[in-house]
Amino acid sequence: MSAAPNVYDAEPIPEGARAEIERLLNSGDLFRYTSENAPVTLLEQEFAAMIGAKYALAVSSCSAALFLSLKALGLPRDAKVLIPAFTFAAVPSSVVHADCIPVLVEVADNYRIDMADFEAKLTDDIQAIIISHMRGHTSDMDAIMALANDRNIPVIEDAAHSLGTQWHGTNIGTIGKIGCFSFQSYKLLNAGEGGILITDDDEIIAKAIIMSGAYEHNWKKHGHVQDRFRFWQNKLPLYNQRLGNMSAAIVRPQLAELPRRVRDGRANHDYVAARLNDSPWFIVPDKLPPEERAPDSLQFNLEGFSQAEARAFQKAAKARGVAIQVFGLSEDNARAFWNWQFLGSTPDLPLTRAMLEKACDTRLPARLTTPDLDFIAAALLAAAEDVKGPARAYGT
Ligand SMILES: *Cc1c(COP(=O)(O)O)cnc(C)c1O
Repeated sequence: MSAAPNVYDAEPIPEGARAEIERLLNSGDLFRYTSENAPVTLLEQEFAAMIGAKYALAVSSCSAALFLSLKALGLPRDAKVLIPAFTFAAVPSSVVHADCIPVLVEVADNYRIDMADFEAKLTDDIQAIIISHMRGHTSDMDAIMALANDRNIPVIEDAAHSLGTQWHGTNIGTIGKIGCFSFQSYKLLNAGEGGILITDDDEIIAKAIIMSGAYEHNWKKHGHVQDRFRFWQNKLPLYNQRLGNMSAAIVRPQLAELPRRVRDGRANHDYVAARLNDSPWFIVPDKLPPEERAPDSLQFNLEGFSQAEARAFQKAAKARGVAIQVFGLSEDNARAFWNWQFLGSTPDLPLTRAMLEKACDTRLPARLTTPDLDFIAAALLAAAEDVKGPARAYGT
């Protein structure tokens, strides 16, 4: 029997990063605004061109990008912001940080926003919408954008963990007014920490750049929208959420790796998903037709498991070498809305709760081999049998 694959290790940083890091170490030129054409500036230009956006601003995290997005929209204190109830705690946190109030929308058991609840909660007092494409799972962006545009409400896409995902062939993150991505180590581009904000809007990029910490006339090094920078000069607070040159030097050579990571991640996902869907215990929800996935993990729902059985399954999978988490059953999970006690109170959201209590998450990085994938699929199927007994012949 082969050994359990290590799904936690990141890929090595491409060799191409070394010369640039050596240069930065020798020069000590680590601050993005010291020299012209610094690695952070080049990363912004390359990322914007790759994703298909006019402007990009690299910052210290995706959380910072979300916060700056809300601030750049000029939302007043206590503005209500619609967010999905299935997201990472960083999202409601960014709303609180921007002095706004998050309104949670139900998410269905296919991990996508429940459009009936979305429409019901899109009341006149909603001033912005954040759509989290959790693990790349893309909600119905056609319906969401139609409703938002109808009411003139700006949409921020939290694409932290969905770089490379497409909707009707368009990159996720470029559909709303602003898109935000993460360079934290578990995402598709790894700088340890970091993030990037993209937009086509002159006003938003100028405001976000100044607030990210382009103090005095550092904004001149961005080249574009100089008249907008001049207009906003000294009118906005500085939050200093810049990215450093070392992080940019680590990310830049990874951009060329993206197509491979996306292609292999999708193939790995679909391979394991097909094996799980063949069993009576698991359902990997279908994507919506316009979506092309770029997964580096797999989510699936347990079918007909009690909570005790779901916990036993989690334990059995671990004993067989595969760590999974049931989002709603692992203690203090940051993606379970009832753990966001910092909001004061959280509403009752039965649809999202039911999904979280059966939705499993397992890492599936692009670098895994077919034997690794077979090991994982076999371990999950065997763990289900450990709990539920042998499957009856299925499909006959
Ligand atoms: C990782 C993640 C974030 C936060 O990204 P950071 O760069 O760690 O701040 C936000 N939203 C989602 C959906 C994420 O997966």
